[in-house]
Amino acid sequence: MAIVGSGPSGAYCAQVLAEHEGLDVDVHVIERLPVPYGLVRYGVAPDHQRIKSIVASFQEIFEHPRVRFFGNVQVDRDVGLEQLLAGYDAVIVASGATVDRRLGVPGEDLRRVYSATHFVSWYSGHPDAADRIFELQGDRALVIGAGNVALDVARMLCRTPDELRRTDVPEHVIEALAASSLREIHVVARRGPAFAKYTNKELMELAHLEGADLVVRPEDLELDELQQEVVTRDPLVGRRMTFLRKAAATEPRGAARSIHLRYHLAPQRILGSDAVESVQFSSAAGEQSIDAGVVFRSVGYLSAPIAGMPFDHVRGTVPHQLGRVVGADGVPVPGLYVAGWLKRGPNGVIGTNRMDAMETVGSLIEDLAARTPDEARERDATAGPVADFSGAIGWEGWQAIDAQEVRDGAAQRRDRVKVHQWERMLEVARDR
Ligand code: NAP
Repeated sequence: MAIVGSGPSGAYCAQVLAEHEGLDVDVHVIERLPVPYGLVRYGVAPDHQRIKSIVASFQEIFEHPRVRFFGNVQVDRDVGLEQLLAGYDAVIVASGATVDRRLGVPGEDLRRVYSATHFVSWYSGHPDAADRIFELQGDRALVIGAGNVALDVARMLCRTPDELRRTDVPEHVIEALAASSLREIHVVARRGPAFAKYTNKELMELAHLEGADLVVRPEDLELDELQQEVVTRDPLVGRRMTFLRKAAATEPRGAARSIHLRYHLAPQRILGSDAVESVQFSSAAGEQSIDAGVVFRSVGYLSAPIAGMPFDHVRGTVPHQLGRVVGADGVPVPGLYVAGWLKRGPNGVIGTNRMDAMETVGSLIEDLAARTPDEARERDATAGPVADFSGAIGWEGWQAIDAQEVRDGAAQRRDRVKVHQWERMLEVARDR
């Protein structure tokens, strides 16, 4: 079996396959980067080490005797989907959602309007973002969107250098964040607080930041009928409102920075001559303009289509039936499966991918079991060779990078510092 992608979804698929009783399989996990773990390594915020500790169980999966890791192999560039389908009995594509959604308003391409996706990649030491520059200028940043990523961005903009040095964030990122002149970070939702997408744990964390006060405006918490209905129906939203009311009644401590949660502000246009100067929003009271030196759009991710794989451009996902990829004719493509964000869109927490993997692998196993002995023999006779991944970085290559990160950390009196450049990653992996 081949699995494309080594993030949470790919890892859980590998686990379910490798541990399935009575199934004698080799699982090859193909990953574009020379390192495993996808969004756990490059999406979960560096100051959320507890969530990141899930890599210990993912490591066990990749070290399972039936599982092999092939890093630095890009589907479409190094191997085609057709070739994978010919060489393997089944292919599960779990390549996630890597493209950021745009706001679609005028002024979005002005200087200092950034994608949260790029910012997250940059502070996470993703090799594709190594050369990005974020000009963190002015007093105020607006983070547009009300999901957990928006909160990650706001929090990271307020972390002190000491706090950041307890993480694996590369030194150039710590220096750039320390030099930021931004003092007010506004997280701007287009709807009311009852409809925000962020989760309570992540929201409540904002009340305990060393470097920032949390500011909530009481008038934003007056609920219309629609929001009231949500609060009545969903106790989690009720708890959120209780927290927000308490935050609104709390005096700021006078921290160096502040995070402001704003609501009912729908972005209309971004204004400025060269760089962003302000953003115009529509609100219940009419148009409202807020000055800003920097804007981050944080309105969700999209998946990128893969050559030869059906793709629903409206939903930004691959059409499927219980994980079986279906073509335009509505018929499943033999041997091709999908899992994770590419299958269901960019939502849920890491654990959501476990149930999702069980569904996809369940379909795969059902299809294998349904093959007659003749069909299985014919498949074996016509199968192409497994692709030659000669340029791949194997598990030992990743282990060399892992060890280098710990050594780099020790040199800076830190636990670990990410190796964040492509060339260096490949060099370390190959020189092991
Ligand atoms: P998200 O949760 O889908 O939030 C996207 C936000 O963007 C929503 O508030 C949405 O508002 C807003 N939005 C969309 N289009 C907009 C527009 N044109 N103008 C203004 N606002 C707009 O996405 P995300 O924050 O990227 O997170 C992705 C997934 O990763 C989520 O499942 C999230 O929970 C997860 N994640 C989890 C953690 C964690 O557990 N710590 C951390 C990071 C990410 P509407 O609701 O009004 O559309």
